[in-house]
Amino acid sequence: MVKKCIYCGKEISQGRSDRKFCNSNCRASYHNSRAYYSSAPVSGVIRSLERNYNILCDIISSGNESASMGDLVDEGFRPEYVTSYMKVRGGDELRCFDIRYRQSGLKIFNVRKKEESGVVIETNLVPNE
Ligand SMILES: [Zn+2]
Repeated sequence: MVKKCIYCGKEISQGRSDRKFCNSNCRASYHNSRAYYSSAPVSGVIRSLERNYNILCDIISSGNESASMGDLVDEGFRPEYVTSYMKVRGGDELRCFDIRYRQSGLKIFNVRKKEESGVVIETNLVPNE
């Protein structure tokens, strides 16, 4: 069976049988094109999460840990989109990929990248070996 590059349609003549692209440029172009997110409901949610993520990144990179919900919504933040949440003392902790934050009605706070708190947790661990 002749495999074809799913981006440019050229035949794939060599490589593993599960290859989908003729070269890495096609792979990158395909993923950049967002054809990857094949269905409209999925791509809409991904875009909303991505926008939320970028807004949360901006908060962190500007040195803040909180922001008012009104400002965030003005920027396009959609509070109903989260990747997961956890019950923690005093409420819920929400996650958008590797960023975690807390939310009360009018603001979000404790905005942090997961790695940062991961480092803190690790310093409290007793090594196994
Ligand atoms: Zn190709």
